[in-house]
Amino acid sequence: MKATCWMGLRDVQVRNVPDPKILNSRDAIVKITSTAICGSDLHLYNGFIPSMRKGDVVGHEFMGEVVELGRDVHNLEIGDRVVVPFPIACGRCEQCSREMYSLCENSNPNAWMAEKMWGYSPCGVFGYSHLLGGYAGGQSEYARVPFADVGPIKVPEELEDDQVLFLSDILPTGYMAAEMCGIEPGDVVAVWGCGPVGQFAIKSAYLLGAERVIAIDRFDYRLEVARRGGGAETLNYEETNIPEALEEMTGGRGPDHCIDAVGMEGHAPGVAFAYDKLKTNLFMETDRPVALRQAILACRSGGTVSVAGVYGGFIDKFPMGAIVNRSLTIRSGQCHVQRYMRPLLEHIRAGDLDPSYIISHHLKLSEAADGYDMFFKKQDACLKVVLHP
Ligand SMILES: [Zn+2]
Ligand SMILES: [Zn+2]
Repeated sequence: MKATCWMGLRDVQVRNVPDPKILNSRDAIVKITSTAICGSDLHLYNGFIPSMRKGDVVGHEFMGEVVELGRDVHNLEIGDRVVVPFPIACGRCEQCSREMYSLCENSNPNAWMAEKMWGYSPCGVFGYSHLLGGYAGGQSEYARVPFADVGPIKVPEELEDDQVLFLSDILPTGYMAAEMCGIEPGDVVAVWGCGPVGQFAIKSAYLLGAERVIAIDRFDYRLEVARRGGGAETLNYEETNIPEALEEMTGGRGPDHCIDAVGMEGHAPGVAFAYDKLKTNLFMETDRPVALRQAILACRSGGTVSVAGVYGGFIDKFPMGAIVNRSLTIRSGQCHVQRYMRPLLEHIRAGDLDPSYIISHHLKLSEAADGYDMFFKKQDACLKVVLHP
C-alpha cells in the first residue's frame, strides 16, 4: 500500500510499504477514505520528536471503511464506516474505566521511554514516534486499529467525511479545552492560537454557554475564520497589546477563562531522554510559554487557564506566584477522545456544528509532502489539509 513516511527533517514521502495485518484478536483493518495533517505532525516534520525512525508511517487523524476484523471485535462489521480516535486505549484498565483514555495503561509497549521523561506513560498514539508506541499511522491507504472494539465509532451515511473526520482528534481536543474551563453563562473566554484546535475551542466555548469569546493570533486569515466560522471577537498580537486589550474588553478584570491553544494540538511530543536534548529544543520551549504566561497573567482572579497546547518537557519562568495569589486553576491533558466522540457526533447530526469550515485544502494522498510544506509555511491560507488515498 501507499503510506506517508517520515524520512527525516522536513522530509515526508509517500512510499510503498507492506499492507497492515491483523496481529491481535481485537484489531481491525480500516481502508482509509480521509485523513488529515495535524499541527502536531509538524513537530515530527520539524524533527522535534525523538524516537522517530526513517520510514515510520505517520498520521493520527483518519477514517474509512472496516475491511477486516479480529475474532474478538463484535461491535463492528465489515463495510462499516468508522472514525478512529488518535489515543489507542484498551477500554479495560484502571484509567480507561475512569474514561481517561489518553492515559490507558495497556497501549504503549514502549512505556519505559515515556516514564523516563514524564514519570508515568500516557497511551500509545498512531503514527507518533516509538516513545508513544511505534504504531503505524493513518496517512496511508490502510491502517491497523488496535482495540477496535473500543475506539472507532460508526458514522451515519448522511454525513460527509469532512463533517466527521475531526472527531478523531481536533474537535474533541478543542471541546475538552473549553470544557475544562467550567464555563458559566455570561463568561468571557480568551483563546490564544487560531489553528484548528483553537478554532474548535472557540466554537465549543459558545456551545458550552460562553457569552463572548476573544481569539488571539497573528495570521489574519486565521482570525477571519475565528470571526466568520466561530463568531469570536479577534485580536492580532502583532498589532495589539494583548494584556491591555483584554483588560479593557473585560471591565478591568480579565477574561474568566483563558485557553492556550498555541501548541496547536494536544499530542505528547516526547522530548528526549535527557535534559541536554531538551535544551537543544529550546525554540519550542521558549516560543510556547509566551502564550501560557500571558494567559496566566491575563486571566481573571479565580479563573481557569486551560492548556490544550503541546508541552513536552520543562518550561522556564512559570508565574506560579500569580496562580497561588490569585486562586487560578490550571487544567490540561491530552484529549480523552473516546469520551467525546458520541456526544459531539450528536451535535453534528443535530446541525449545531459543522466542523468542515476549517478545511482549507483537499489533496490526494500522493501530494502529502506538498501538504506538509504548505501547512508548515502557512502558505495559501493553509489552515487544515485533508488527504484522500
Ligand atoms: Zn492531531
Ligand atoms: Zn486502557
